[in-house]
Amino acid sequence: MRGLDVSQVLKTRFGYDEFRPLQADIIDNVLAGRDSLVLMPTGGGKSLCYQLPALCLDGLTLVVSPLIALMKDQVDALRANGVAAAYINSSVPSHETRDAYAAARAGRLKLLYIAPERLAVPGFAKFLHDVQVALIAIDEAHCISEWGHDFRPDYRNLRTLVEMFPRAPVMALTATATARVRDDIVEQLMIPEAQRFISSFNRENLTYIVRPKRRAFDGLVELLRKHANELAIVYCLSRKGVEALAADLSREGIDALPYHAGLDPTVRKDTQERFIRDETPVIVATIAFGMGIDKPDVRLVVHYDLPKTLEGYYQETGRAGRDGLPSECVLFFSAGDRAKFTRFIEEIGDWTERERAYRKLDQIVAYSESRTCRRAFLLQYFGETYDRTDCGGCDVCLAERETFDATEIAQKVLSTVIRTGQQFGAAHIIQVLLGSRAGKVLAHGHHKLPVHGIAREYDRDQLKEIVGLLEDQGLLCKSLGEYPTLSVSAAGRDFLRQRPQLTLTRIKRGDGETVSAPSVTKSPPYESRSGGGPVYLNRELLDRLRDLRGALARSRNLPRYMILGDQALQEMACFFPRNRASLAHIAGVSESKLEEFGDAFINAIRVYADAQDAEEQAHLARRHSNSPLDFAPELFERLRELRRGLAESREQPAFVIFHDRTLEEMARVMPQDHAGFARISGVGPAKLEAFAEDFLRVIREHAASDGER
Ligand code: ADP
Ligand code: ZN
Repeated sequence: MRGLDVSQVLKTRFGYDEFRPLQADIIDNVLAGRDSLVLMPTGGGKSLCYQLPALCLDGLTLVVSPLIALMKDQVDALRANGVAAAYINSSVPSHETRDAYAAARAGRLKLLYIAPERLAVPGFAKFLHDVQVALIAIDEAHCISEWGHDFRPDYRNLRTLVEMFPRAPVMALTATATARVRDDIVEQLMIPEAQRFISSFNRENLTYIVRPKRRAFDGLVELLRKHANELAIVYCLSRKGVEALAADLSREGIDALPYHAGLDPTVRKDTQERFIRDETPVIVATIAFGMGIDKPDVRLVVHYDLPKTLEGYYQETGRAGRDGLPSECVLFFSAGDRAKFTRFIEEIGDWTERERAYRKLDQIVAYSESRTCRRAFLLQYFGETYDRTDCGGCDVCLAERETFDATEIAQKVLSTVIRTGQQFGAAHIIQVLLGSRAGKVLAHGHHKLPVHGIAREYDRDQLKEIVGLLEDQGLLCKSLGEYPTLSVSAAGRDFLRQRPQLTLTRIKRGDGETVSAPSVTKSPPYESRSGGGPVYLNRELLDRLRDLRGALARSRNLPRYMILGDQALQEMACFFPRNRASLAHIAGVSESKLEEFGDAFINAIRVYADAQDAEEQAHLARRHSNSPLDFAPELFERLRELRRGLAESREQPAFVIFHDRTLEEMARVMPQDHAGFARISGVGPAKLEAFAEDFLRVIREHAASDGER
């Protein structure tokens, strides 16, 4: 099958039009018989890197994976695409294992997934002697390294496997690996020549938001309502917290289930299964949830408590939007959570471990308190530079900003730091500024200082923000360590001496609210495949297609995404494919899906589009019979012509651009500018941006020629 066009295989077997970054290079490398080390973030599309070559190569592709649930999902998904795949692990009955072996021996199997323990089973080694292995793919490859966070001794047996098949290329894949772990993987597997493919860890489609943890429950409910009918995971720190929150959410009428390691294994399995099958949309979980869940359409991941590490946070947020569609990650942050962790950490006996835990905690706190782009922060943490200053997808970058004159308050803050001897942290300084008579203030006699209570017009959060801004400006310095203290820098002293005007920029506040993060919904206008600017979804049709998918999934007892992904439905609600040829162009529609589900979807689209057409016709007929006087029929025809041209170039039906009724209103009102155009019913902001120019031009031309007459 060599020499075959891999893009062709991508389309026919997986239903995708294009490779994601690095996929094509990786696949080329494998097909050339070379070893690879693949580092991609969760959701980056690692599986395709070995699944596609598996179909092109003669022989069997062995996939080693420690995650049993994931194995099953992947095999189910492959089979749904008509690929001969099987898995064996401890949960598979022996007759099925025997069948899988037989199929592999007979050359009828393309992919076989195994758990690492299998390598130590004598029968398996014997089986390997009878098969031709074309490719060895090792998922979660960091498990081989003691330097990683998830070492599994069984992974060491992989070396024998690699030695057994010297001609088969090896592909090691992972979503988390530091430079040290990378080197270790390559060394342990004895693939020194492996080409390394390291993709960006930037997940463009995820929006990162940090909110102060205040009235957090209401905030959470609001978020879940916004994402109603979508899947969400809410992470909490403790089992008790998980139970309580799930119960509270259920009382609010939100369909949520708890998940943690303390539950009975059958309950746990059942809960996970319900989530995978879309029966329970919201899971409240400790971090134990999510490993090995390959769900592409999770739209919201919430950290209700502070995560322990940035690595964990990144991994958990990574479970949102694996299909590349816009999804939200919201973290509720409070200093109280930090204190809670500090108590845990203090109980760690081992000194270096305790230090390490503190460092990790400092990093996640720094992330939460950062006033700079969250994405840039995360990427830098993972060793990547991000040179844009506005990512457009985090609360910091999306926040409205305002400048304010901070000359006076800066003097007050700096003076207070100096007057108290530069040996206190921000919290104490703020108490003094506010005129508090708390024990610590009195104990140090700070209530007698002239600076006591000089900033009563501010509140605690505002002062905290200002202290942070002064740090950013380099006027204040913060010491390192567990109880950081503030001191005034040389620049700060110059400032106090010279008192120049100081203007600072802060995040704009909502009315009466303290620093509030914007609630972001980035719903499509979604990009067309042909790159012809944004195109529009028909929500009504989308809902119908979703219902249809739900019914198909239920009747086959499969999760929805195995019928077709969200992206496929969105594209359908946009391009209205009405025959098999055009349906085949939709993302994720492989040959076998086309065969199995094509007609059902085509039928639904036809029924909907025909009804729309009929409605338009009826409307036109009514209009012709009682044509109002102020209506310009020639203009209306010209507008329709323009629409036809646009529809053709965008491969969309005309009414998706504008309904006849909208064109008719344009012909009647004849708006002359963007503002006027925006007032026409049926013109939203996205359509305004995309089409106003073209339509206004036609209207203006018409008005001009009218004047001549
Ligand atoms: P990873 O293993 O890296 O976490 P997956 O292999 O599970 O990621 O892929 C994540 C999602 O992306 C899956 O739903 C997969 O079908 C989809 N995907 C992979 N490659 C492509 C592609 N070239 N085009 C569109 N979707 C893709
Ligand atoms: Zn940003």
